[in-house]
This record gives sequence, structure tokens and C-alpha cells, in this order.
Amino acid sequence: MSAYHPLNEAEAIEIARTLPGLFSPGAELTSREIGDGNLNLVFHIKDASASRSIIMKQALPYAKVVGESWPLTLDRARIESEALLLEGTLCPGLVPHVHLYDPEMSLIVMEDLSDHVIMRKGLIEGNRYPLFADHISTFLANTLFFTSDLGMNQQEKKEQVKRFINPELCKITEDLIFDDPYRDADTNNFAESIRDEAEMLWHDGELHLEIALLRHKFLTHAQALLHGDLHTGSVFIREDSTKVIDPEFAYYGPMGFDIGAVIANLLLNYAGQEGWTRDEAERVAYRAYLLETVREVWNGFETKFRKLWDDQIQDRMSEASTAFQDVYVKSVLQDAIGFAGAKMIRRIVGLAHVADIDTLTDDATRERAQRLALAVGKALVKLNRRAVTIDEVIEIAEQQS
Ligand code: ADP
Ligand code: MG
Ligand code: MG
Ligand code: MG
Repeated sequence: MSAYHPLNEAEAIEIARTLPGLFSPGAELTSREIGDGNLNLVFHIKDASASRSIIMKQALPYAKVVGESWPLTLDRARIESEALLLEGTLCPGLVPHVHLYDPEMSLIVMEDLSDHVIMRKGLIEGNRYPLFADHISTFLANTLFFTSDLGMNQQEKKEQVKRFINPELCKITEDLIFDDPYRDADTNNFAESIRDEAEMLWHDGELHLEIALLRHKFLTHAQALLHGDLHTGSVFIREDSTKVIDPEFAYYGPMGFDIGAVIANLLLNYAGQEGWTRDEAERVAYRAYLLETVREVWNGFETKFRKLWDDQIQDRMSEASTAFQDVYVKSVLQDAIGFAGAKMIRRIVGLAHVADIDTLTDDATRERAQRLALAVGKALVKLNRRAVTIDEVIEIAEQQS
């Protein structure tokens, strides 16, 4: 393959032809770019007659942010492919199979998951996914335990931290989640109708202290290899299957950041439900389903993580102690709650929003959803260091709505 340049659809087909073992020579291939085009190109390449297809994801050297170009390292394609491979060994079946990574073109060739839907879309349509909590809690427990100092050789872990140094993508998170929403920043993006809410965020000292502590933890706590962007747009789902995609933000950070991302995105959908489920009884039931899923995600994570701990750590006496395990798990819960709150807040006033709320067509309904998401988000951030159980999260959501 030649030197790096953004591929067009015809070039994507030519590259697909050269990949060993995928398409037969002379196959008639079609190619369609299906990404949203802000950071990456995503090509869907198909051989209709053999009903075979693949996805090719290529990193672009810039991000389009508020009309400007923001240079962004192509190294994130390496990080994404290495994270997918590692997650695939730790959680078989829960990520797409990677056929190939091409460093020259910053290109990942992977399994086509078009028979799944993006979970955010599925939740907006009111679907339920009975296996999601079990699958995602397995993903979280296995990836977080086995990449941490608990679940791997502590010298090898340090080497692994080096492979996943991701400063530019981390800076996006540091700025957009932990900084800009709390001041009058140019990147902020909110309707004038909720300016009162935004201004309250800029002047809330209690909130600023908690956000500073969370930001500091994100910066310094190299606890486990995170996915780093685990919202419901990074989950492909069916009733019987869950696949996590898009770990280009992967780096060593606090476990609660990934768990909090899942919780936040379930709660953002919860906040939008007034617009999505018009019938009140149905809405109450769907919201109960979402909150039950939050509870099951945490409880599933805790059970599986503690089991791994009990099974894997017997020789290092101090770490084998139950008291240490209890303190450790409690601090992961507290972090998850704080990060969940921060993620909810930024999706309302910060640069990047979520369709669960933004695509509500009625202005008044959308505004109520935004105010609800902010109320829940702020309450979670303020709770975080005091939290003892996941039930407190459920209670906050129920009380605010
Ligand atoms: P980005 O990092 O630019 O957000 P994603 O990896 O999230 O890129 O992919 C963007 C979109 O491309 C997804 O929402 C999905 O529609 C499509 N896509 C990505 N990976 C696959 C895949 N393995 N199979 C099918 N579609 C995919
Ligand atoms: Mg995208
Ligand atoms: Mg991405
Ligand atoms: Mg994505």
C-alpha cells in the first residue's frame, strides 16, 4: 500500500481485494462510506454474490471541531486496533474480529456488524436488550481486572501502559468533559433557553471541586486499560449479542470512567423518554427497565470483578485481603457515579450531544429532558465521594423526574 492519504471508495475496494482470504479474485465489490466523518472514515465493502462483507475504518489526521480543523494523531488507529485485539482475547465474542491493521494507511479491517444496531438507536426506538447488562458487565470486569495491577504481572503492566499512551485523545476528554462545561468556553453548545442552567454550572463551587477531583483522577490514576469512549454509540447490539466498537480513546485511567460512561448513557436515554414513549404507563415501565439495567450493570460488574479477584489473587497476601477488596470496589463505584454525572452534564451544555435528547422535536419536551439530565448529572457528581450503593443512583433518577 502507498503512503498515507484519506482513501476514496474506489481505493478502499482496491485495498480490500489485496487482503488474503477475504474475497475471491474477480469478485464484484461495492464500497460505501458510512462513518459520520468527524474523525474517521468507515467503509462498508461488500461482495453481494458471496454475501461477504467487511468494514474498513481509516483514521483522519484531523478532527472537525466547531468548523475548525484540530490536528489529531493517526497513532490512534494503532491504539484502537491493539485495544480491540486485547479486548477480544479478554472477552471473546464481545468485540468485532480484527482482520488486519495497516499502520501505513492507519486502517483497521474488521468484521462487519451490520446485522446489529447501534444501541443508542435501539434505545430511542424503545427496544429492550435482556443480555446487555450481563454482556457489558463481563466486558467491564474482564478488561478492567486483567489490565490492572490486580490481574496482570505488575512489571508487564508498566510496559503495557506505555503502549497505550494517548495524550491527544485524552486532551479531548480533559477539555470537553472536565473543563469547558464549567466556564463560558467557545466550544460549549447549548440552547439559549437553558442559559440559566449553564451559568449555574459556571458558578457552582461545590461542583467545581468534585469535577477538579474527577479530572485529576482521569489525569493521574493509571488503574486499568480503559475503552475511553464507552457510550451507547460505541455498542452494537441485538437481543442475543453485544459488540463493543471504537476504542480509539483507550488509555490507562480510572476504571470508573468506563462504567460511568455506560451508566450516563442509559440515564441520558431515561431523561429523553418523555419524548420517546408518549404513553405514560409504557414510559414508566421503560424507565424502570433502564434503571434496572443500570443496577444490573453495576451489580454484574461487582460480582464478576470480585470473583476474578478471589480466584486470581491468592499469593500476594496484602492484596488478597477482603478489607482491601471492599475499599477498592467501593472507590470504583464512587468514581463510576462521579464520571457518570460529568458525562451527563457535558452532553447537555458541552460540544457533543446525544441523539436521545437532541433529536426530540418538541422544544419544550427537549428542554425538560435537558434540565432533567443536568439535575441528575449534578446530583451524581455531588454524591460521588459519599456513595455507598448503586441504589443511590436509581433514587436520584427517580426523585428528579
Ligand atoms: P468513530 O470513531 O468515527 O465514531 P465508529 O467506530 O464509532 O467511528 O464507527 C462509526 C459508524 O460506522 C458506526 O456508528 C457504525 O454505523 C459504522 N461502523 C463502525 N464499525 C462497524 C462495524 N464493525 N460493522 C458495521 N458498521 C460499523
Ligand atoms: Mg462518531
Ligand atoms: Mg471514535
Ligand atoms: Mg464512534
